Amino acid sequence: SSVVVAVDGTSGSGKSSTCRAVADRLGLRYLDTGAQYRAMTWWMLRNGVDVHDPAAVAAQAGTPVLRSGTDPLHPTITVDGSDVAVEIRSDEVNGAVSPVSTVPEVRERLVALQREIIGDGGIVVEGRDIGSVVWPQAEVKVYLTADPSARAARRALENGGTDVDATQASLLARDKIDSGRAVAPLTMAEGAVHIDSTDLALEEVVDLVVGLVME
Ligand code: C5P
Repeated sequence: SSVVVAVDGTSGSGKSSTCRAVADRLGLRYLDTGAQYRAMTWWMLRNGVDVHDPAAVAAQAGTPVLRSGTDPLHPTITVDGSDVAVEIRSDEVNGAVSPVSTVPEVRERLVALQREIIGDGGIVVEGRDIGSVVWPQAEVKVYLTADPSARAARRALENGGTDVDATQASLLARDKIDSGRAVAPLTMAEGAVHIDSTDLALEEVVDLVVGLVME
């Protein structure tokens, strides 16, 4: 199948779990674009770049070599050949990724990489701007949201029982920057189907998205 499924939405709305399950069920590849923004951010922090200085970030945006593995059961992300799957989930990266993602040079570089990977299709892609900027021609577009408290509870559980209030504050801080930025703000793409997962189990969301692909 050459279908492209674009799933955008807020932090912690269940995008990753949903997209991986949908891709696995339909035999499609899977791409986590958030992991790429996180990997870029990890590299900046690691190399002493001031993440709150857009010019400094822009100057280095072309330097790290990022690779994404697209197996939905074993997605991978490397920077200059090193696996950074664990490092990109740190509090330090959580706090720096949204400012880094507002820098146009970072977005241009990663959008180009994403378009290369999406190529001939057959992929479920998650992010903030996939249906609006990266691949507006996607056959299926989903805008996935959930109430902040539900998102924080899920994310805290995923992270092994971290503090729910702190997790919620971190999610909301990222949402605010992601929705308010000048370049590719998080919005519902034209033609997207809105799914609110607050009161839905993962399997129910997966069924809904698979249903949209089968239509
Ligand atoms: O999806 P995830 O929460 O891992 O994304 C981390 C951050 O990366 C987001 O908060 C956002 O700032 C940025 N991002 C983005 N565009 C994307 C995917 C992620 O700006 N397509």
